[in-house]
Amino acid sequence: MDINNAIGTMEQDTIAAISTSMGEAGIGIVRISGKDAFSIAEAVFVPAVGKEYEKKYNKKLRYGWIKDGNETIDEVLVSFMEKPHTYTAEDVIEINAHGGAVSVKRILDLILSKGARLAEKGEFTKRAFLNGRMDLTQAEAVIDVIDAKTTTAHEQAVKQLGGSISNEIGELKIKMLEILSHIEYSINFMEDAEEDLPIEPVVEKIENLLEEIQKLLVTSEQGRIIREGIRTVIVGKPNVGKSSLLNALLKYSRAIVTDIPGTTRDSIEESYNLNGIQLRLFDTAGIRETEDVVEALGVDRSRSLMKKADLVLAIVDGSNEISDEDRELFEEAADRPIIFLKNKIDLGVSKSVEDFQKEIEKKYSDMKWVSISAKNGGGIDDLQRTIMDYFFKNSISHDDGLVITNMRHKKLLENAENDLKQSLGGIKNGFTLDAIEVDCRAAYKKLCEITGEAMDDDVLNRIFQSFCIGK
Ligand code: GDP
Repeated sequence: MDINNAIGTMEQDTIAAISTSMGEAGIGIVRISGKDAFSIAEAVFVPAVGKEYEKKYNKKLRYGWIKDGNETIDEVLVSFMEKPHTYTAEDVIEINAHGGAVSVKRILDLILSKGARLAEKGEFTKRAFLNGRMDLTQAEAVIDVIDAKTTTAHEQAVKQLGGSISNEIGELKIKMLEILSHIEYSINFMEDAEEDLPIEPVVEKIENLLEEIQKLLVTSEQGRIIREGIRTVIVGKPNVGKSSLLNALLKYSRAIVTDIPGTTRDSIEESYNLNGIQLRLFDTAGIRETEDVVEALGVDRSRSLMKKADLVLAIVDGSNEISDEDRELFEEAADRPIIFLKNKIDLGVSKSVEDFQKEIEKKYSDMKWVSISAKNGGGIDDLQRTIMDYFFKNSISHDDGLVITNMRHKKLLENAENDLKQSLGGIKNGFTLDAIEVDCRAAYKKLCEITGEAMDDDVLNRIFQSFCIGK
C-alpha cells in the first residue's frame, strides 16, 4: 500500500472516541487525535487557573471544566500532547472526565460537533502504525495486552509491544537480504566469467535461516496456549464427579452437584488461572446412551467438545466397577491429549479400576493417571502439576524467550519456511539462480508482511477491525 497516500488522507481528519469502557467507573477518558485536536480542546475546555488555553501546556495535565457555551458538562483533567511524541504521532488530547456512560458521551458529542469525526475501530493504533510510531507486530500487541487473561499472556504481549518480534524478524530480514545479494552477485558474476561461483555458501545460509524460522515456529503451539488458554474438557459417564471436579478446580460451587445422573445437560465453560496459564474448563453432560432428547443433545455436544479439546480430563469413579460405558469413553478419548482421573478415592479404589489401569498402561505406556477426591479436594494439586508438565515440561523455548503467539505471524513464517525449502529444492535440482532468487524474494516478502511492510489495505483493515473503538 502507499503509506504516504494513506497518511495524507488520514491527516485530513481529526478523530475522537471514548477510550475507556462505558461502565460505572471513577474516570472515563475521551481521546482526540489529529491536526485540530488542540483547537477543539480550546473550544470546549475552560481551565480553572491561568489563561484560557495555551499551546505551551504541551505535556501538562490541566484542571478545569468542559463547557458547551455557558453550560458546564463535567469537571475534568486534560492532557495536552503535541506531536510527534504521542501515541499516534499526531497532536493528541486526552480528557479525563468522570466515568459512567453519560459524562464521556456528552463530551464526545460536543467534540464531534466541533469538527472531529468518530474514530473507527483501532484507528488511533492504526495511525500510530501508519505514522511509523510502531510496526504491525507492536500494533497487534496492543490488543493482546488489552485482551490478556493471565500474567503469562500479558508478559508476552508487553514484550511484543516493546518490539521483541520486530527485532527478531528484523534480524531474519537482514540474513535474507544477505542471501539475496549473494545470489545477485553470483548472477552478475556469471554473466562476465566463464565459471560459476560455488553455490555452497548460499545453501548454508539458506539452511541456517530456515533453522531459525523453524525454531520460532516450534514456539507457536505454546504461544497459542498462552494466548488462548488450554481448552480442557471434563468427560465421564454421569455421576463420576465431573461437576465436583470443576468446582474443586475453581474453588467455588459453580456447577450443580447431585447424585442424580444426567443433571448436567449442557456444557458449562469457566476460565481459571493455573500458574499464569488460562485453563478454559468445560464441564460436559455425562456421556451415556439416553432416551431423553435434551440429554442426548448434551451428550452430542460433549463428544464434539472432546474432539476439539487441547486436553481431555477423563474421569472414572475409582471406587466402583468399570463399566462398558467407561471403556467406550476411553476408546473415544484416547486419541486426544488425555489425563485419566480416578475419582472418589476417599471411598477406596476398586480392583476393577486397578485392572483397567494396568490394561490401559500396557496399551499406552505414556498414559497419565491421577488419583483425586473431587469432593474434598484431594489430589487436585497433583492434577494441576500434571497439567503444567504435560504442556510445558518438554516444550522447547526460543533462546530469547520469544514465543509466537499471533497466528498471522505463524502462518507467514510457515509460508516463508516453504519458500526457503523450495529454493533449496531448486538448488538441488540444478535450477537457475534466477529461479532460486524468486523463492528467496517470496520468503523475504513474507517476513516484511509480519512487520507490516508491503501490506495490502484489506489485510490491514481486517487487523484493525478486531480492535475496539477508542484504541
Ligand atoms: P457428575 O454427574 O459427573 O457431574 O457428578 P457430580 O459432580 O454431580 O457428583 C455425583 C455425586 O458424586 C455427588 O453426590 C457427589 O457429591 C459425589 N462425588 C463427587 N466426587 C466425589 C468424591 O471425590 N468422593 C465422594 N465420596 N463423592 C463424590
